[in-house]
Amino acid sequence: MGFGRSGRFGHGRDSNASLKNIISPDALERMYEVNPADPYQELRSALRELCAQFPAEYFRRIDERRAYPEEFVDALTKAGWLAALIPEEYGGSGLGLTEASVIMEEVNRAGGNAGACHGQMYNMGTLLRHGSESQKRAYLPKIARGELRLQAMAVTEPVAGTDTTKIKTTAVKKGDHYVVSGQKVWTSRVQHSDLMILLARTTPLPEVTKKSEGMSIFLVDLRESIGEALRVRPILNMVNHETNELFFDDLKIPAENLIGEEGKGFRYILDGLNAERTLIAAECVGDGYWFIDKVAKYVKERNVFGRPIGQNQGVQFPIAKAYIKVEAANLMRFKACTLFDAHQPCGGAVLHRLDRRADGSPPRGFDDSRQTRVRLGVSAGGLAVLAGSPGAGE
Ligand SMILES: Cc1cc2nc3c(=O)[nH]c(=O)nc-3n(C[C@H](O)[C@H](O)[C@H](O)COP(=O)(O)OP(=O)(O)OC[C@H]3O[C@@H](n4cnc5c(N)ncnc54)[C@H](O)[C@@H]3O)c2cc1C
Repeated sequence: MGFGRSGRFGHGRDSNASLKNIISPDALERMYEVNPADPYQELRSALRELCAQFPAEYFRRIDERRAYPEEFVDALTKAGWLAALIPEEYGGSGLGLTEASVIMEEVNRAGGNAGACHGQMYNMGTLLRHGSESQKRAYLPKIARGELRLQAMAVTEPVAGTDTTKIKTTAVKKGDHYVVSGQKVWTSRVQHSDLMILLARTTPLPEVTKKSEGMSIFLVDLRESIGEALRVRPILNMVNHETNELFFDDLKIPAENLIGEEGKGFRYILDGLNAERTLIAAECVGDGYWFIDKVAKYVKERNVFGRPIGQNQGVQFPIAKAYIKVEAANLMRFKACTLFDAHQPCGGAVLHRLDRRADGSPPRGFDDSRQTRVRLGVSAGGLAVLAGSPGAGE
């Protein structure tokens, strides 16, 4: 792929548009062109070239059929982008989370949906950080080549919800295997995965001293497991996002599929969530820029009372406000990436804020990270919606 961990990319931001120019005639082009001061320009150019082959019409057709963007994901895989975080010795590019976040941002910034495949980029992190050398050698090169898809992670349960330590799915060791029983919900991309990361309780809650102990991580081979012992029920609620309920009925998993130490799974999952949250925040930043591009273009083109509506300050201000929030979220994203790549603690305020509020406003009590795109859509892209732009598709 040509983008190794060679120090070619430093940190920076990718917008040279000043606020006052947001809706001036050339501002859009300047916002989207590659900024010479941006250390990731080579990376961005390559991504933009690939994404240009999958225009809005492609994603609209996929949405109409409620289908999966196979060709797009294949193209990203073949170009090596989804293997960005896999070290070179295991066949990946050995890039940091910073570069990986730029990849995800660019996909959404081009109007695509990285959510269809971001799991392939970060789910292997659990294996990479906590798996044995033989597990890494067995799986990572195949994941890097796209021969094995590790896009699914089953943590959330209907009753436990956010309170992960209360999960009820159990894995009981019997000889050379574990027997898994229980239920998961919101498990995404199962239909497009060969392997899945599973969190299950291996020591009952009343028997552990700390409630975060006694849970373990397993690698489930979905190709062998789906059937009587593992039933998958799709949740048909979201466009462009495939997610499911899973029912485990004495599913046997080989003991060698345990990742890391038994009982330490909760800590391993939290490690992985830091990368996931940061990458998804970068996607939201990409969405934010996409919406601002669209709305800025529309307000220049739409004429009412004999002039473009963008000449009215009442129209300019909300766009400017949204732009400031996206810029702030962008900076926070790079801060989180820098900390993560430097192996510094990054699970606190920075990531909490990114996850809950990728638009930069203070967190409230509720988990509204899933609404970020919608909120950005309303605040920055409301006019684009009025103009008939369909959100993530166009
Ligand atoms: C599209 C989608 C895809 C997903 N994909 C996956 C996946 O692949 N794998 C997976 O394991 N999970 C997945 N999830 C689950 C997700 O990551 C959350 O863990 C899950 O939605 C939270 O559980 P819940 O919905 O039961 O919320 P609940 O736990 O019922 O919480 C409801 C609300 O109350 C808030 N709340 C709860 N307690 C407190 C408190 N003490 N203080 C303040 N607020 C509180 C929560 O933040 C939330 O907003 C997905 C979810 C969605 C929507």
